[in-house]
Amino acid sequence: MSEPLLRVDNLVKHFPIRAGFLMRQVGVVRAVDGVSFSLSPGETFGLVGESGSGKTTLAMTLLGGYRATAGEIWFRGDNIADPVARRRRPALTKEIQVVFQDPGSSLNPRRTVRQTLEVPLRVHRLVSTHGEAARQIARLLETVELPAEFMHAFPAALSGGQKQRVAIARALATEPSFIVLDEPTSALDVSVQGKIIALLLDLQRRLNLTYLFITHDLSLMRNVATRVAVMYLGKLAELADTASLFGNPLHPYTRMLLSAIPVVSEAEERLKPRWVVPRGETPSPARVPPGCSFHPRCPDAFAVCPRIDPVAASADGRHVVRCHLYPGCTPAEVADAART
Ligand code: SF4
Repeated sequence: MSEPLLRVDNLVKHFPIRAGFLMRQVGVVRAVDGVSFSLSPGETFGLVGESGSGKTTLAMTLLGGYRATAGEIWFRGDNIADPVARRRRPALTKEIQVVFQDPGSSLNPRRTVRQTLEVPLRVHRLVSTHGEAARQIARLLETVELPAEFMHAFPAALSGGQKQRVAIARALATEPSFIVLDEPTSALDVSVQGKIIALLLDLQRRLNLTYLFITHDLSLMRNVATRVAVMYLGKLAELADTASLFGNPLHPYTRMLLSAIPVVSEAEERLKPRWVVPRGETPSPARVPPGCSFHPRCPDAFAVCPRIDPVAASADGRHVVRCHLYPGCTPAEVADAART
């Protein structure tokens, strides 16, 4: 197994809730609450979960948009959760890029495609003359299968798919090794989604890119990801390679998500977990239930679940789950007490 490109150790991002005239802290939003995983070079690591699960906050913390409350993010030998380390190595920021969900709002409507793509090239001093910038921008547009003439267009003149190709070209401008794809196709027409996914996979192969792919679309995840992590209320409920997660889901929450995927054949229907009726809504991360945070919705909850938060454990070292139903997930002192 190769050295990880990125390693996240026990990452925490909490937001204080303030109220009153003196803006006293009255609570905390536990958006990301002790998440650990690593990414190998060239892989697509999928992150799934419902709205409010903490996926986007996790991505923004990796990108430096939020300062981590605790934990470490190791990238090429530096802990980039430390803002000082991040500032000391500005070259690292050019290696980590992002493509957002909605290209309509991520592109400045007052800038031409050329002006948009020129910004990262100038900021990172990758071009020095006007002519060099024009040639590089034409190359970037060719890479995302757009004609060079598009550099003179404003976003309003482009379709949704073309705008997303420009956003991908902007992410590629700094020749990154790692790209966060935050729901990159969910704002696009279905007919365009497949073409953008095909482009992203082709770019990954040609440029040896590593992706963190965030989506709530499990069908899409099954087709693009090499490994998948399922997030619930700021924590990873389950992490496994894609075949294991879809073929043998362990966590009740994963089974609930998978049971809701639409299928097109009886064979697929037979492979799905039995339908698990979701109980209630995802609670707010400002009011995380005690013990296992999934317990108010879990059809398998038992006595220990509302009292004790399970820990992540794995029987084979690869398929990780966080649920008291599995060996190693109940903290040792609790398991011992229950036996005596
Ligand atoms: Fe359900 Fe208990 Fe497992 Fe949580 S720990 S997912 S409540 S069985």
